[in-house]
Amino acid sequence: MSAHNLHPKFTNETVLSYAPGSAERQALIAELAAQQARVLEIPAIVGGERIASGNLTDVRAPHAHQQQLGRIHNADAGTIHAAIDAAVAAQRDWSHATLAERAAVFLKAADLLAGPWRARLNAATMLGQSKTAYQAEIDSACELIDFLRFNVQFAHELANSQPISSPGMRNHLEYRPLEGFVYAVTPFNFTAIGGNLAIAPALMGNTVVWKPAATASLSNFLFMELLEAAGLPKGVINFLPGDPVAVSGAVLARPELAGIHFTGSTAVFDTLWGEVGRNVSRYRSYPRLVGETGGKDFVLAHASADVDALAVALLRGAFEYQGQKCSAASRAYVPASLWPQVRARLVALVETIRMGDVTDFSNFMGAVIDRRAFDRIDGHLQRAAADSGVTVVCGGKTDASVGYFIAPTVLEVDNPRHTLMETELFGPVLSVYVYADKQWPEVLALVDSTSPYALTGAVFATERAAIAQAADALRFAAGNFYINDKPTGAVVGQQPFGGARRSGTNDKAGSALNLLRWVSPRTVKETFVPPSDYRYAHMAA
Ligand code: NAD
Repeated sequence: MSAHNLHPKFTNETVLSYAPGSAERQALIAELAAQQARVLEIPAIVGGERIASGNLTDVRAPHAHQQQLGRIHNADAGTIHAAIDAAVAAQRDWSHATLAERAAVFLKAADLLAGPWRARLNAATMLGQSKTAYQAEIDSACELIDFLRFNVQFAHELANSQPISSPGMRNHLEYRPLEGFVYAVTPFNFTAIGGNLAIAPALMGNTVVWKPAATASLSNFLFMELLEAAGLPKGVINFLPGDPVAVSGAVLARPELAGIHFTGSTAVFDTLWGEVGRNVSRYRSYPRLVGETGGKDFVLAHASADVDALAVALLRGAFEYQGQKCSAASRAYVPASLWPQVRARLVALVETIRMGDVTDFSNFMGAVIDRRAFDRIDGHLQRAAADSGVTVVCGGKTDASVGYFIAPTVLEVDNPRHTLMETELFGPVLSVYVYADKQWPEVLALVDSTSPYALTGAVFATERAAIAQAADALRFAAGNFYINDKPTGAVVGQQPFGGARRSGTNDKAGSALNLLRWVSPRTVKETFVPPSDYRYAHMAA
């Protein structure tokens, strides 16, 4: 047995309840108060050094935009190049560290996050990204802890994946890192995704330049500090907040670019891919491009669906975290025979939703991330209200006076190809198309062909034949497919995550498949007793 096999198997981190009187609730409340009382400086971290440019962007709470939480020091051109130089320089030592040595850093980070750092990261995610305590807990605590631990387990499994050796030789696959540096460009909506895009390549021996989303910089910066506390060597991950176009332009021009680990919108990934294409002959190696992008995730109900289960899944799937999950349910197809009951149940539930400041633990929803998102979603809702082909079933109200609040909204559309059924809105808006029950086969084709994305999707049915038909007809319509469950909430190690078509390269974060993209294996053959004569037996006289 190789030493790799000795590594423990992990289980998913338990989600804490934050119920009244619980110790975790007390700790979180204290941490929220501390973070609200200060304005945190968020500099770049390059080769372990903090670089404060003085070129500032404010970090504000989306649900209380008068409240300043931090100040980002946007990296200047010199700092961007210094970050790349630091990553390239750090690779020499880091790529020679053993997997066990590298893993120790991330396992220690997991334990720190599970313990003393948990409240800190959760409070930053709540305040900076407007997540409720529960939404923060499943993101910046549990999912990030799971990424830290399970990546280690997957890396060991990969290391154990070895070719056979015939008698007289030893064959071996050496899982080298990529040569150069990896550029991690990360989204606002999950602290865990931001962290994972940087740590997954680093675990495999790569060094990283990490450009966070400005709107997630508070939690992302604290995660960098946590990695430092866990002993991450200087320069292995370089934290580089700044103007996305300027940073990416400089980074993608460097010949040492070995890969991009991206999560965000399809349009931005297209831009990065195009730029890499234009630069391709100047790179020392062909960069690995891993991008998880947008979605227009569906819930398809069959006439045999359970109405209560469907209504709850639609509500949670569409409105948790204000619909700002890439996996959020945003288009639903409901048979006419069920729609009156589903609509009544859904509206009754939505009317009980409390929305507001996430530090009030009784709220189920907070605000959308910033003014740009608010204006975009508000524009869609205004157009919908004026559209005779759209019925506002509930919601539709918006208010940006204190925070960027958009009421959970259900829209019924007459036209199944309406832009509301095709376009990613990234807000708490669910569009519903009601189909005639007998059109089940046609509706399967409709779900498959309406949107360019293929990230997540769900079917609700109690008839097994209907489930089988949907699973087959929608095989390429979602990378994560759910049966009688909402299309959100993938768990590391349980539902490896990613979509195809225009939703990304489907490199399944939370599984060994993702880690495979960050290695460039070397095959080594050792022959024990080499031949001493070049002639083969058939050549004998
Ligand atoms: P975004 O594309 O606006 O930003 C993502 C990152 O790209 C940020 O770091 C941003 O600063 C950077 N960026 C923005 N413009 C850029 C440019 N011109 N050049 C280079 N970099 C640029 O996305 P977002 O608003 O942070 O996140 C929401 C999007 O992410 C949605 O489309 C959502 O579906 C998607 N998402 C997908 C997944 C998935 O796993 N498929 C997960 C989470 C989010």
